[in-house]
Order: sequence, then structure tokens, then C-alpha cells
Amino acid sequence: IFNNFVNGSPEESDMSVRTETVDLGIPEGCDDAVLVKNLYLSCGPYMIGRMKNLEGYFFESFKPGSPIVGCGVFKVLDSSHPNYKKGDIISGFTNWEEYSLLTITDATPFFKIQDKDLPLSYYIGILGVPGMTAYTGFFELCCPKKGETVFVSAASGAVGQLVGQFAKLAECYVVGSAGSNDKVNLLKNKFGFDEAFNYKDEKDYSAALKRYFPNGIDIYFDNVGGKMLEAAISNMRAHGRIAICGMVSQYGLEQHEGVHNLFTILTKQIRMQGFLVGEYYHLFPKFLEMILPHIKQGKITYVEDIVEGLENAPSTLVGLLSGRNVGKQVVLVSPE
Ligand code: NDP
Repeated sequence: IFNNFVNGSPEESDMSVRTETVDLGIPEGCDDAVLVKNLYLSCGPYMIGRMKNLEGYFFESFKPGSPIVGCGVFKVLDSSHPNYKKGDIISGFTNWEEYSLLTITDATPFFKIQDKDLPLSYYIGILGVPGMTAYTGFFELCCPKKGETVFVSAASGAVGQLVGQFAKLAECYVVGSAGSNDKVNLLKNKFGFDEAFNYKDEKDYSAALKRYFPNGIDIYFDNVGGKMLEAAISNMRAHGRIAICGMVSQYGLEQHEGVHNLFTILTKQIRMQGFLVGEYYHLFPKFLEMILPHIKQGKITYVEDIVEGLENAPSTLVGLLSGRNVGKQVVLVSPE
């Protein structure tokens, strides 16, 4: 349960766990509903923004006193909607509960999972929002060309690990930054980044980038914003592209930091574009067509950090801001 709006960085105590006995069933007269058992829940940094009482955030704030809402994979136990039946496995928005009664509208983004050969948790990771985000931001916005140089921040996370692997598929040189030496090893030895560095060991981000990109960066996939964005802008090549995917370094701050070198965007003719993946779902079939064979042939790998138990979900969500997760953060509620 979400307790109340937060300012600054959220804490575990901003959420609480409630146990109550409920009758499992769809109430009389409740058409277009599904009763589901939640299997996997996604923890994503954007959810921190939903804990704040912000005007104009791209998602509605969570409601104090109600469950947290997020992407999940769930099994239909009962349905009063003609498109869904008992036993269907779906990925889509659900509540942080063991069982949920979900109302279906025309706009409900539910995806019926047909291909069950892959882990179901993939449908909130590599085959879900993070996968689509990496694909859209990198291929559609950054338009990579063979031989170009790519920098990715928060590179070991749900999105970043895929951007790095996509960059190698596109025959680019790719460097990632992450917040621990173990994550740096993962980037180089598991995901195939050419180079990686621990940003927490660097006093001067711009100098670090100059070390890895002596001739500049063509593409920056920005997951963190703030000082790293400023450093990347300083190191961009002429006609470089920057995809503003997220700004996780800012989510826990009451006041966002400024970026002070925007003049470089003009002088180097850089294209910097923010994007929200929800507007690109027309590309989902094209994305699946590309990614599924790569996963099945072992050409793309995906690391998940699966924490067991709904009671651990609050600390797990908050842990995203301290980099506790290694890979896509998932909460396992029930395996079946
Ligand atoms: P991650 O799995 O990467 O988890 C968040 C990571 O951010 C942490 O593990 C931590 O890694 C890093 N981090 C936390 N605080 C800081 C900080 N102050 N400075 C630098 N890094 C920090 O998350 P996702 O892959 O799910 O999301 C990545 C980004 O993409 C986020 O900004 C998210 O909001 C955004 N996003 C955007 C979407 C869109 O439509 N535009 C859709 C989905 C996600 P470390 O140990 O390396 O510090």
C-alpha cells in the first residue's frame, strides 16, 4: 500500500504491507473484469515519480491508501470479459497484490502471452517496456551507423544492458557506466561492451569520457541526466545524437540540477530528443520480430534481479535509487 506522497527520495516506510482476507470472485454485475493471480511485478525507476504529487508527470500519481500500480505478469483465474479466459497469462498493468480484480477498458494495455518457452518474467523485461525502450531509443531515435561511438549510462540496468548489446549488433564501439566494479565486469564480460567504468570512482565525468572517447561520442543514450548528461554533451562529436530516456540521478532530488553547456547543442549541431516509449508501441511487432530470434539463438542475453515475496517489494523499489539491483528488477509473487 502506498502511504502518502513523498518529497525527495522515497523510503521503504512510504509503503506498507497489509494482509486481509478476501472472497476470490468477480462481483455480480461487474462486467469486463478479470480476477488475476499476480506472478511477477516490475520495479522501475519511473515509479518513484508516481510517488510524488507532481503536476504534468507522464503518469498519474499513486493514490495514498491504495496499492502501488505497475507492470506485471499475471494469470487469469476468472473473467467476465469475452477476450480473456481462465488460464490466460497476461502482461500489463496490475496492482501490487497477490490477487487483483482488474477492469478492462478499450485502452487497457494487456498483452496475452502465447510463447511460453521463455521465462514469463521476460515479458516485463526484455520483451516488455525496458526492451521496447532500448529498441526505440537506440534504433529509432539515435539511428546508429557501423563504426560509430556509443555511450550508455546506468548501463547494467533493465534498459542499459540491451542498449549496449544493440550497439554491438549495429557494429558500434560502446562504453557503459555503472555504479560498482561488479557491474562494470558484467558490462564487459557478459554484455560485450568494449569498455566500461564505475562512475562512482570518477571525480570528473568529462575527463573519464575523454579517456574512453578521445575522438568524441556519436551517440549518448542517457538514463541518468544531471552531471553525466552535462559531461556527455561536452564530449559529443558534431552531428551527434542524444536520446533522453530517463534521468534517474534526478528522481530523488527535490530540486533538479541544471545542465550548463547547452550552447554546445547548437555549435556541434547535436540532436537531443526525449521520448516516452508508450508512444512507440506501433513498433512492438517489429521489435518482437527482431528480438525473439536473437534471444533464442543466444545472441542477446538478459540479466534479471528477482526478489522473492511481495513483502520485499517496498525495499526493492526504493533500492533502485541506490543501485541495489543488478539487471532488471523483478519481484516474484508466485511462480504459477
Ligand atoms: P535500472 O534497471 O537501470 O535501475 C536503475 C539504476 O539506476 C540503478 O541500478 C543504478 O545503477 C542507477 N542509478 C540510481 N541512481 C543513480 C544516480 N544518482 N546516478 C547514476 N545512476 C543511478 O532502470 P531501468 O533500466 O528500468 O531504467 C533506466 C532509465 O530509463 C530510467 O531513467 C528510467 O526512468 C528510464 N525509462 C524510460 C522510459 C521511457 O519511456 N523514456 C521507459 C522505461 C525506463 P548504478 O549502480 O549503475 O548506479
